[in-house]
Amino acid sequence: MNFSTDMHLDQNYPLKALNTFGMDVYARYFVEPGCRDEILTLMNYRHMVRLPVLFLGGGSNVLLVNDFGGLVVKISSKGIDYRETGTGEVLVTAQAGEIWDDFVGYCIGQGWAGLENLSLIPGTAGAAPIQNIGAYGVEAGELIERVSAVEIKTGREFILTRSECRFGYRDSIFKQELRDRAIVLDVTFRLAKFRHNNPSPDKYDGGHDCVADPGPSAVKLRVDYGDLKRELQAMGIADPSPANIRDAVVRIRSRKLPDPALLGNAGSFFRNPVISDGVYEALRKMYPAVPGYPAFSGSASHSGERTTESGKSAVSIAENSVSENESSDSGRNYKIPAAWLIEQCGWKGYRCGDAGVYPNQPLVLVNYGKASGREIVDLAHQISESVFTKFGIVLESEVNVIE
Ligand SMILES: Cc1cc2nc3c(=O)[nH]c(=O)nc-3n(C[C@H](O)[C@H](O)[C@H](O)COP(=O)(O)OP(=O)(O)OC[C@H]3O[C@@H](n4cnc5c(N)ncnc54)[C@H](O)[C@@H]3O)c2cc1C
Repeated sequence: MNFSTDMHLDQNYPLKALNTFGMDVYARYFVEPGCRDEILTLMNYRHMVRLPVLFLGGGSNVLLVNDFGGLVVKISSKGIDYRETGTGEVLVTAQAGEIWDDFVGYCIGQGWAGLENLSLIPGTAGAAPIQNIGAYGVEAGELIERVSAVEIKTGREFILTRSECRFGYRDSIFKQELRDRAIVLDVTFRLAKFRHNNPSPDKYDGGHDCVADPGPSAVKLRVDYGDLKRELQAMGIADPSPANIRDAVVRIRSRKLPDPALLGNAGSFFRNPVISDGVYEALRKMYPAVPGYPAFSGSASHSGERTTESGKSAVSIAENSVSENESSDSGRNYKIPAAWLIEQCGWKGYRCGDAGVYPNQPLVLVNYGKASGREIVDLAHQISESVFTKFGIVLESEVNVIE
């Protein structure tokens, strides 16, 4: 195919290096648009060539189960622009193919606060709004001003504001109505400017060299998340800068999570289930140690509860059966750490062949080398079945499984 640009269409293209699970599968056709215009050009060809298409950023949230019989498009458009608002804030736009963590590092280097808690998340900027990436008390959606996208079917470009993106817990309109219908072209974040005394932006090294440049809606640094707070304390930092927070997050993540370059994985395989307070209370009666945190986003449509055929709450049929009458919902929801549920079912550190559960974090499924996508899917299925049998809670996959 001739795209009349610099894009090449490859055939039978290996995807092993393009997905962090390291699945050794092939794409029938492969193309890598390197800029926004090339993505738009490609949309025109999509109308003529009706192949199934898979868009990939960094491949860090996908599990490729089989060779892909259609066209894989790896989005590699780069570029960062910004505009100061004059009110202590800055609007920063990243093209979809920007490497997320490089972008976070760039923003902190510029003295712009907001994204530091999201340091070291693999992948691209364009994928950040898809599942509303989140870590250490912050979700990308809180900072996103707008997302510019293109409709695959028509090639029509459009812009969505933050509220139109309908961000929820690991969720957005791009995983709902716009799933497989739109490509994110760029993402604009509203960040807060920080003044700092250190003239070299790459060399933040203390807790006192940055102060918020006062603006009407300056982003507050978020250090209330337990692990983060403890790490900063251990680092001896009482009044952290964004760079200090980034350092702390990098330290925690490097300890807890496997590096995909060394051990194939896609981060958390399951979302933390969100259940109603009634179900949570019933669960606590059976398992007093069950942790739970009030869920502030993405609640209603993401309940981890499954209704049985008889219409009873799943919890009522779980081990040590809880009566529904014992629960009284007040409309509040709780997020339960899926890692705890999985660990209680004895999966932590489990390994079968090359598919396994990461010993330091049971929410992460790993490929020790030659596991197939099917083996990982089977393991995930066994885990979620055992969690349902024991707790009556349904685990949903956070990773996009591409069959
Ligand atoms: C070690 C590790 C740690 C992780 N930690 C976290 C974490 O703390 N928090 C968190 O939220 N996630 C985490 N993740 C998951 C993952 O990094 C994020 O979901 C990330 O945003 C995925 O980006 P990507 O570019 O790799 O997307 P891909 O895996 O390439 O794609 C993911 C999905 O988005 C679609 N997509 C990609 N780009 C576009 C685009 N431009 N337009 C439309 N659709 C697109 C794909 O088709 C696919 O359905 C982690 C993953 C790993 C491996």
